[in-house]
Amino acid sequence: MPFSRRLFLGTAALAAAQMAQQNASAGDAQERLPDGNWSFSERDAAIAAPIQALLPPRLFDIHAHLYRTPDLGTPCPELTVQGPELVTRQIWRARLEQLTGPGRLAGGLFLPYPVKHGDVEAGNAFLASELKDEAPVRGLIVVTPQYPREQAEGYLRNPRIVGFKPYHVFASVPQTFDAALEEYLPEWVWEMAHAHRAVILLHLVRAAALSDPDNQRAIRTRCAKYPRAKLLLAHAGRGFHAPNTIRALPALKDLDNVYFDSAAVCEPDALMAILKTFGARRLLWGSDFPVSQQRGKCVTVGDAFSWICPRRIDVDPAAPACHPTLVGIESLRALGLATQLLDLTPRDLEDIYWNNAQRLLGIESA
Ligand SMILES: [Zn+2]
Repeated sequence: MPFSRRLFLGTAALAAAQMAQQNASAGDAQERLPDGNWSFSERDAAIAAPIQALLPPRLFDIHAHLYRTPDLGTPCPELTVQGPELVTRQIWRARLEQLTGPGRLAGGLFLPYPVKHGDVEAGNAFLASELKDEAPVRGLIVVTPQYPREQAEGYLRNPRIVGFKPYHVFASVPQTFDAALEEYLPEWVWEMAHAHRAVILLHLVRAAALSDPDNQRAIRTRCAKYPRAKLLLAHAGRGFHAPNTIRALPALKDLDNVYFDSAAVCEPDALMAILKTFGARRLLWGSDFPVSQQRGKCVTVGDAFSWICPRRIDVDPAAPACHPTLVGIESLRALGLATQLLDLTPRDLEDIYWNNAQRLLGIESA
């Protein structure tokens, strides 16, 4: 991908774009392939079945994106181009239910798809329009360093808008993957989150993510200063390189307003560390839809992490046959393994997949 595009995309979005590009580089055959992104094969169903058997009867997805691709600017991220143009809650449910099994998806916390050159306001307005019924659903708006504070205040008057989605691509620095927290998460967002008991869904950047000393210091300082703000660390604290999260957790253990989602995390180790350090009431399942619908897996490799996609599988004739499944299935498997290996109880599972979200978002007195 051109370097300029690289700068605009976040970790998960970048990976999605890279995988989509590699999957699609075989040409227009992409949509026709039974094993492309946004597809669901019989093999996927067979892989998902034993994973679904571990799930409780109702699920709350704490991290899912809804959007219209025309709002995402040009160039539009490849993964979203390959899928529907209008991604509503109905699309979320129809596609994700294939992964989770039917009848389980009972609620969600939705957010726009943040893209550097997208139309932030159109994305927020569309998101808000998707929350107008009695279902247990809530939303976050995308905020940038330039976003008008009054505009954000206006959204929070809607009781279904419960917080904020900052993102590093909006930082005014050339390399936003190296941005300091303050460069994409302005202090007024913390103040407002504290005043409204609102959620900040944070996707950390920098190579060491949660182990980065500046990231850690900023999280500790702000969480202590704004104790009623609820910090939800996406992707297990961006623990795609699991040791980054595992190493950092002891230093955050005393913070009462820090939570983690499991979105797009495809290996169990960082999730196990969170469960061991914080218990089952601070970890929440999230799909990261539509990243859940891309084919591949994110793994810790060497000193960082890498996204395996169908075209990166070993094709040596002597190599074992291997068919990558969807990120959402890999992530459910990782969380399932973590809960099994730690002997969590059915009540713990209800917390992770439902109750924690109800408490965090104040949906019902759980
Ligand atoms: Zn996401």
